Amino acid sequence: MATYGIDLGTTYSCVAYVDDTGRPVIAKNAIGQETTPSVVYFETSDNVVVGQDAKGSAKLFPDQVVQLIKRQMGQKFELEFHGAKHTPESISALILKELTRAAAEQTNEEVRDVVITVPAYFGVAEREATRNAGEIAGLNVLNLIPEPVAAALHYEKLSAEGTSTILVYDLGGGTFDTTVIRLDGDDVRVLCTDGDHRLGGADWDQRIADHLLESFLAENPESTAGESEDFLQELAIAAEDMKKGLSSATSRRYNMRFDGATARVEVTRETFESLTEDLLARTFEITQRTLDAAAAQGISAFDDVLLVGGSVRMPAVNEGLRKRFGFEPKLHDPDLAVAKGAARFALIEAVKVRLPGEADGAAAASGAAAEREIEQAADQLGLEPEKVRRLAGRRVTTVVPRAFGVKTVDVADDGAESFSVSHVLKANTALPAATEPERFATAYEEQTEINIEIWEQAGAAESEDLADNAKIGEGIITGLPRLRKGSPIDISFAMDELGTLRVYAVELQTNKDLHIEVSIQGLSETQVSQAKEAIARYAVSE
Ligand code: ADP
Ligand code: MG
Repeated sequence: MATYGIDLGTTYSCVAYVDDTGRPVIAKNAIGQETTPSVVYFETSDNVVVGQDAKGSAKLFPDQVVQLIKRQMGQKFELEFHGAKHTPESISALILKELTRAAAEQTNEEVRDVVITVPAYFGVAEREATRNAGEIAGLNVLNLIPEPVAAALHYEKLSAEGTSTILVYDLGGGTFDTTVIRLDGDDVRVLCTDGDHRLGGADWDQRIADHLLESFLAENPESTAGESEDFLQELAIAAEDMKKGLSSATSRRYNMRFDGATARVEVTRETFESLTEDLLARTFEITQRTLDAAAAQGISAFDDVLLVGGSVRMPAVNEGLRKRFGFEPKLHDPDLAVAKGAARFALIEAVKVRLPGEADGAAAASGAAAEREIEQAADQLGLEPEKVRRLAGRRVTTVVPRAFGVKTVDVADDGAESFSVSHVLKANTALPAATEPERFATAYEEQTEINIEIWEQAGAAESEDLADNAKIGEGIITGLPRLRKGSPIDISFAMDELGTLRVYAVELQTNKDLHIEVSIQGLSETQVSQAKEAIARYAVSE
């Protein structure tokens, strides 16, 4: 049975599998396209439409259409359609269901074992939510893989063997990321990552839409077109088309009509680029920040700069990166690379699942029992044993996506308190990670309890301000003798490869200590199976 890689994108999704010849192939959707809009239209109480038609229905039925649900992953968020409650997980599951249904139709094979991609910055809760979405869709989620890693795995297939350091610049529809990856033999390692998950192609669309409306109103100053949801939706769709057109043509025209008034506007690539110059500049600032983070790890040169995401088709991206950084970026399947790389990774994971003892890469060095396992796995997967042996040796290592720390209080002489977050586990530390104990001190005289609050960086950069962080857990050490202010406490953080965070705190005078495992406030097993049943009754189609 084939294994599938799924790029569950903010705006577009894509499915790939590895064919008999070892090549990753895109499974086209029900209408023959390689990517599918991540849009869900709850048409009736038992009928759901996913994809292009759903996107087209947003205009007529804005209250029944869900877009950009990925931005809500990992958050407590509920929507209701035709009396049924939905979560980001169940809505993503509907997208996955349609994607895999269409893939199964095309390959004549049930789709079960999958790897789903996630942005490198996704934290624990978002990853767990993505995994649950897969389960709700009835899939067996072998693993998740960061999108830039998947893109690098795909690209690696095309490039020479050996060690290489790659910068991935991923500008999609709703998010932007830059990531530095090291490919070294069987080791794939994320070295650092940064991004803005509110910056993407949709912002470029919006600039054109605004420009179109302005042009229309300039010719029809009395018009109320600006207050018409329908008209604005129409412009939004036209804007995206126009933007795509401007990636190959140097000028596009568009005719607008509202309430008998009309306007015809021409947008040149030059105009478009100047309307969106600041957006592109923001991606370059983040790229610079990533380069600085890489430089701090001693990396100052890249073997390749990979452009990923549909929006890198805009010529200004490539030109800008050349001019500003002197890069020679490569563009390979920008909107398919993530799914294709995920398909390759799915194969690796499928091998590892079948070779339980070999997960750490010792496959080659073993006896008769291991040989039998390898042959069995090869048989099940329809691969050569030699290939299985090689795949089993591969390791993918990633980093802590965001900084984690504790809340601290500073008490001034006049009693005024000021709170901040002191980060202990820094972003971009390799996983699994374990920090040295960091020394903190009690803030008040005669404390008999110490409350430890765990906070996670919420903004793009590490910052001490509470407002730039989010509280994700807490615990308390009690029963302490009235401690002097400034009594020492040691706190250390550890995170495993799945992103589970463990915090250990010890008060040094009494040795009283505290273990906190940050539990994810995601769906319970029962909720997942309930959601699975609930979506099973929908007829899903493209
Ligand atoms: P996601 O962010 O969901 O992963 P993609 O990587 O597929 O999505 O990127 C989708 C974005 O790429 C959309 O904003 C889309 O308009 C844009 N896009 C697709 N093709 C082109 C093109 N030829 N020129 C400019 N932008 C494009
Ligand atoms: Mg993407």
